[in-house]
Amino acid sequence: MPESSRSSPADACDLVVVGAGAAGMMCAAVAAQRGRRVVLIEHARRIGEKIRISGGGRCNFTNVSTGPRHYVGRDPEFAAQALGAYTPRDFVALVRRHRIAFHEKHRGQLFCDHASSAIVDMLRAECERGGVRWLHPCRVHALRPGPRGFELDTDAGALRSARVVVATGGLPVAAIGATDWALRLARSLGLDVEPPRPALVPLRFVAEDFAPFAQLAGVALQVRASCEGASFDEDLLFTHRGLSGPAVLQVSSYWEPGRALGLDLGCGTDLAGLLRQAQQGSRQSLLGVLAQVLPRRLAQAWLDQQGLDGARRVAETGRAALERLAGALSAWSPRVAGTEGWNKAEVMRGGVATHELDPRSLEARRVPGLHFIGEAVDITGWLGGYNFQWAWASAHAAARSV
Ligand SMILES: Cc1cc2nc3c(=O)[nH]c(=O)nc-3n(C[C@H](O)[C@H](O)[C@H](O)COP(=O)(O)OP(=O)(O)OC[C@H]3O[C@@H](n4cnc5c(N)ncnc54)[C@H](O)[C@@H]3O)c2cc1C
Repeated sequence: MPESSRSSPADACDLVVVGAGAAGMMCAAVAAQRGRRVVLIEHARRIGEKIRISGGGRCNFTNVSTGPRHYVGRDPEFAAQALGAYTPRDFVALVRRHRIAFHEKHRGQLFCDHASSAIVDMLRAECERGGVRWLHPCRVHALRPGPRGFELDTDAGALRSARVVVATGGLPVAAIGATDWALRLARSLGLDVEPPRPALVPLRFVAEDFAPFAQLAGVALQVRASCEGASFDEDLLFTHRGLSGPAVLQVSSYWEPGRALGLDLGCGTDLAGLLRQAQQGSRQSLLGVLAQVLPRRLAQAWLDQQGLDGARRVAETGRAALERLAGALSAWSPRVAGTEGWNKAEVMRGGVATHELDPRSLEARRVPGLHFIGEAVDITGWLGGYNFQWAWASAHAAARSV
């Protein structure tokens, strides 16, 4: 077990991997199984902690339909090579070899049937199989590129390594080990970094825009949420404090101050058409028609807020008022006050700029022998297992190249 195996550092090795999270363990295991002498360094008390807390404790470890379009960043196409070389099918084969039971939840999302710690145990076993040497817990104080590789100063003494893979992840959830080490290191070596921002994060809404709906806590519906050209059909949940659920998390990755959020509460339904149809001699009330598409409580609150009487017949309501009603429901744009920040974010947007890296190996073009993988890179997945698949694939790409 790594916790108890504080090995003394090898004076020299082929590869040092910094960070024993999803990407770091995968990379160390694959490189070691290819015969490389690998040292894996982790500073936190427990390894793979984000895997353990992921997916509500069941780890949504991949998505069967992963492709570059499921990622956000300056150049999502950068991810295509690594994702193509190590696919969800490859990771599923590994999971099956370790006899970890899993199921598809929806939209290609694969979750463990039982505790996500099975994935941590699997990666640890793969590291053991390759003979990875652990330095844990251990901090890296300095890393210097030299003529024959890299020199590292660590809690456990000095290390020399031909190559270094930085797998220290992003900034979310500092309490379990997250740091900005990768970004500071990249900057110190003159590499460009895209500004880090919380992503897949709950948003805070301007209180005044939300006040009319405060009593709707618990109401959920599928909506079409959009921001900056990206659009998601996902569930939206009204809470005591605002709006939440997958719809908000997905668009949060595209939001930044000054950008508007759009919510189509009818999720693509032609509400204007529906109301026009109901006008043709039917006896239906406004509330009755809206409740065909929206939860009744939401329909009622919306009509109240628009000053419309829900009991009134659609046939007796003017065309212009119906158009306004449909328009407002399909393009609601509550103002966003900010995000809930790093402690509530699932991932980091931004990171080491992809133009600094070779897409086949994740090696820094300007610092040969140094690789950045996983969340530290400016490739951020949608909700649904895409972030882990990027961690596995980028780790694999780096490991195959060292
Ligand atoms: C609550 C939550 C739920 C999530 N659920 C899912 C999910 O279900 N599916 C999905 O695809 N993604 C999910 N994610 C995102 C996913 O966990 C990350 O994208 C993924 O773990 C990134 O892998 P990584 O190896 O790059 O970083 P990490 O897994 O974060 O690993 C980085 C490691 O580096 C260590 N480290 C940091 N700094 C140093 C340092 N200076 N020296 C040594 N070690 C260091 C850290 O302690 C950590 O162990 C979730 C995230 C959170 C926060």
